[in-house]
Amino acid sequence: MSHQLTLDQIRRAPKVLLHDHLDGGLRPETIVELAAATGYTGLPADDPEALGAWFAEAADSGSLERYLETFGHTVAVMQTRESLVRVAAECAEDLAADGIVYAEVRYAPEQHLEAGLSLEEVVEAVLEGFRVGQDRAAAQGRSIRVGTLLTAMRHAARSREIAELAVRYRDVGVVGFDIAGAEAGHPPTRHLDAFEYLRRENAHFTIHAGEAFGLPSIWEALQWCGAGRLGHGVRIVDDIEAARGADEASGTVRMGRLANYVRDKRVPLEMCPSSNVQTGAAVSIAEHPIGLLRRLRFRVTVNTDNRLQSGTALSEEFAKLVEAFGYDWDDLQWFTVNAMKSAFLPFDERLALINGQIKPGFAQLKWATD
Ligand SMILES: [Zn+2]
Repeated sequence: MSHQLTLDQIRRAPKVLLHDHLDGGLRPETIVELAAATGYTGLPADDPEALGAWFAEAADSGSLERYLETFGHTVAVMQTRESLVRVAAECAEDLAADGIVYAEVRYAPEQHLEAGLSLEEVVEAVLEGFRVGQDRAAAQGRSIRVGTLLTAMRHAARSREIAELAVRYRDVGVVGFDIAGAEAGHPPTRHLDAFEYLRRENAHFTIHAGEAFGLPSIWEALQWCGAGRLGHGVRIVDDIEAARGADEASGTVRMGRLANYVRDKRVPLEMCPSSNVQTGAAVSIAEHPIGLLRRLRFRVTVNTDNRLQSGTALSEEFAKLVEAFGYDWDDLQWFTVNAMKSAFLPFDERLALINGQIKPGFAQLKWATD
């Protein structure tokens, strides 16, 4: 019997995370403390453990809309400079503790203005928090670099403004732009102005597409908006016909033009297994399209989306995939190099992380478990 990788071993691997929401990764005890400090009385529970369970339960409902509701509470306690610095610092620390060496964490500045902060003050507070968290992690012997993606809400009308904000802060830690929120009824082409601006500025962006909604959303994100990556992109499988049942072993697959385009152009797919199951974008981890897409060598990456709501961490997502698909160190390294290649960092810096940290780290782990 071959040896299956354990969660503990996976934690030690140098990992890369591209899709993680700042307001989806708070520690439950921090939410309770920040609510008390800022006078927010709307929490469904005052005890950190009960609160953590409430988030997991609400996120398990199977509806994206319900899932998005849980963010009302996290965003409510992230309205002051102090709370934003703290949440960002703890985020960097938690990711470093999970063995992540490079992360891109996203959030929507426009959701943090209720107590009077300006968009610029929000961005600067979060950047400061990531610096603090990276320093604390370094003091504990863990090296992590965190880049920020600024998100615009797809149902709102501030995307151009947020895109300009992303460009203004691109040399000090903001590495890209994103749009998020309920997909149905809010196609990415509504924000064409923002995407055209970013392209003229040679700036990077990803778009949440193909999660709750199918191929038209992915097609618009790529061919109208020019997205560099796809947030989730799970529904690309709707354009792939794989043999099932008795013929499955034949491995026969027929792909449509859009699926071929995504694979040919190496468009990175930011897949988030647990989150995709919770929002109904995938039936189960075992039946998650990641298995087929990895086999077909799409540019698949593995991500957390919302660690709090899904009660997960990147290592846990990998552990679930190991369990479902029997992945080994080579597979995990493949996903990790995919992610690093797809990061919104300059090419030489991506290469330095791949050759300086990721490959040597995996080589050591493989050697140790041989
Ligand atoms: Zn997301």
